[in-house]
Amino acid sequence: MKNTAYLEINGAIGEGGGQILRTALALSLCTRKPFRITHIRAGRKKPGLRQQHLTAVHAARDISGAQVEGDEIGSSTVSFAPGEIQPGKYHFAIGTAGSTTLVLQTVLYPLLLATAESHITLTGGTHNVHAPPYDFLAQVYLPVLNRMGVQVTATLDRYGFFPKGGGRLRVHITPTTHLRGLSLMERGKIVKCQATALTAGLPEHIALRELQRVTEKLSWSQDCLHHCALPPNQGPGNVLLLQIQSEHITEIFSGFGQRGIRAEAVAEGAIKMATDYMAANIPVGSYLADQLLLPLALAGEGELITTTPSSHTLTNIETIHYFLSVPITQTHLKGDVWVIRVG
Ligand code: ATP
Repeated sequence: MKNTAYLEINGAIGEGGGQILRTALALSLCTRKPFRITHIRAGRKKPGLRQQHLTAVHAARDISGAQVEGDEIGSSTVSFAPGEIQPGKYHFAIGTAGSTTLVLQTVLYPLLLATAESHITLTGGTHNVHAPPYDFLAQVYLPVLNRMGVQVTATLDRYGFFPKGGGRLRVHITPTTHLRGLSLMERGKIVKCQATALTAGLPEHIALRELQRVTEKLSWSQDCLHHCALPPNQGPGNVLLLQIQSEHITEIFSGFGQRGIRAEAVAEGAIKMATDYMAANIPVGSYLADQLLLPLALAGEGELITTTPSSHTLTNIETIHYFLSVPITQTHLKGDVWVIRVG
């Protein structure tokens, strides 16, 4: 391992968060370039590898027979030398409520470009604050990704919320030899809006208060509002999902119930994101933008109109450029509206 030429990545750049590690693992697998990352999550309160990141490192190792050093909780340096991608059946268990959708981001792209189908099961959190909830993955992200010439489907068997976890997500990946670029320049007319308040093992009034705020602030009619009471043993947990389906794309903005945060405040966070999105008349929200960069960079081309690039987006661009030389530009169009071009 010592003689291999490693890309040296500084995990403290930009956000200094877990995304740098996940993007590096995914691109290392796709390009077969080994890397060494230092200062992992230096920008976070508790830096170093946490359970979700460690599971991501091990998932990346398992699908490729990689050689890894520094893979332990709290570690701030990891060396990773990938082997050949082995599509197949895998189960990645986080063991805590860490986000399953974020672990998936690590293995999804290499398996998309593999030689055969894969079936992935992930257990842990499925609806975590600061991570894509399952619904975003299934209804927003994968439909866009599937326009790039692949076929990925996701199924939720069981919900998992912080702190209990225990959720289960299954993903089926039909790969391609070549990812097609994408053009997401128009949203089109909004055709349907839906607000869903999920509760598990929590009183109904939490959902009703969240939905009441949606009525007050967004004026969505009663038939757009849903309360879904999940089996109590999948909780405690609560999330409000605001789905905006437009002619050319669907977006979801979410608010996560947390101890000590009032239901009204949970709703208002999601409502603000939805309101800004609708007012900007853009197709791609900020989270979707940072998550699409990696597949677009692998495709070598693409363009999208989004909001002002977030620090996540800027950091992801910087991380991608450690591995791929594809140009990525951001151009200001007006107000809060930007175009990002890849290739
Ligand atoms: P840490 O920095 O603590 O390691 P992390 O590993 O959870 O955190 P981040 O670097 O914060 O990772 O990346 C979070 C990812 O989750 C980003 O890609 C972001 O787009 C996505 N994300 C966060 N919140 C949402 C949300 N509400 N809907 C969709 N995607 C989200």
